[in-house]
Amino acid sequence: MDEPSIPLCRPYFPSLDELTPHLKEILSSRYLTNGGPYVCRLEEQLSAHLGVKHLSIVANGTLGLLLALRAHGVTGEVITTPFSFVATSHSILWTGLTPVFVDIDPSTLNIDPDRVERAITTATTAILPVHCFGRPCDANALQRLATTHGLKLLFDAAHAFGVPYEGSSVLLRGDASVLSFHATKAFHTIEGGAVISTSHEDKERIDRMRNFGIEDEDSITCEGINAKLDEMNALVGLLHLRHIDKLMACRSMTGETYRKELEGIPGLHCLPRFTGDNHSYFPILLDKAYPLSSRELQNELNQRNICNRRYFHPLISNLPMYQHLPSAAPANLPGANSVADKIICLPIHAELSHPEVLRITELLRSLSSRGGTAV
Ligand SMILES: *Cc1c(COP(=O)(O)O)cnc(C)c1O
Repeated sequence: MDEPSIPLCRPYFPSLDELTPHLKEILSSRYLTNGGPYVCRLEEQLSAHLGVKHLSIVANGTLGLLLALRAHGVTGEVITTPFSFVATSHSILWTGLTPVFVDIDPSTLNIDPDRVERAITTATTAILPVHCFGRPCDANALQRLATTHGLKLLFDAAHAFGVPYEGSSVLLRGDASVLSFHATKAFHTIEGGAVISTSHEDKERIDRMRNFGIEDEDSITCEGINAKLDEMNALVGLLHLRHIDKLMACRSMTGETYRKELEGIPGLHCLPRFTGDNHSYFPILLDKAYPLSSRELQNELNQRNICNRRYFHPLISNLPMYQHLPSAAPANLPGANSVADKIICLPIHAELSHPEVLRITELLRSLSSRGGTAV
């Protein structure tokens, strides 16, 4: 059982040749952090690449979510999805707010706008949806609800780097969107993130809040935090951005190969295609016609050194710090509980080779016909 291991992701890292001239520049300038030239350049280039105007780079996506919630004056209850990485709900708890979970539409894995409306109370001040695995939420329906009920609409867009929606960036929707540039994401700065605002004033507030609330040498005008990205991380991002189109094309080819090779396996389903998929993840869903549960399949993959994740299991609403909330009751979230039980994310990254993808898909196919005893 010594098959070579296939990692879930293999983050980009610049070559020494690419890094060296920039490291020399940093070595001589000693400008290491506090909004240095690399962070500023990365903000400009990312804004252009993503087609957005008001982008603030931050130290990580979680701090971006905290800043967005604070900067937009959110209080009381925040409606959100249980089917996400735990940072979504944790950011709500960390700002002293109460998450209210609303079920997902199992066909998109995104929060169901019809159910959002039913969860609005007098204490609700914001909706925090997630573009799950990069697939855009029904932003029009959510915006209508937010406008009608006077709520802030803040998107956790951690998975949605470069994703378009109705002809422009999905990051332009709502009152703000938050990207994560963690090493496991499609574009990364090792650790990092960004808040995309809808106005210059909002961006300035985020910029100030990420730097302790400092306005200038004589004035500190709000209760900020330290969410600054440093120059070394920004450099990795700038070099990453040079290669991003090529890297994205590789991911996209892998996604297409998976779809082609997995077609027709009974009980194994890929999610429907969507325009602008950045292929950050490759989730598959298993139903009763597949002979293995997701846990059993995970074991088989692990035994063959094929890394995988049961994103997002366990469901956030079933975690100890959330399960007491009335909205966390499994009966309130049948779609999310069911999906969390039968989903598994396969390896996808720019260096995944065609033979590696075939090794994975052939295993999934052989397991499907042998009832879990593939050899
Ligand atoms: C990765 C991720 C985050 C957190 O981002 P960090 O940069 O790791 O703090 C938040 N939400 C979702 C949905 C994520 O996947």
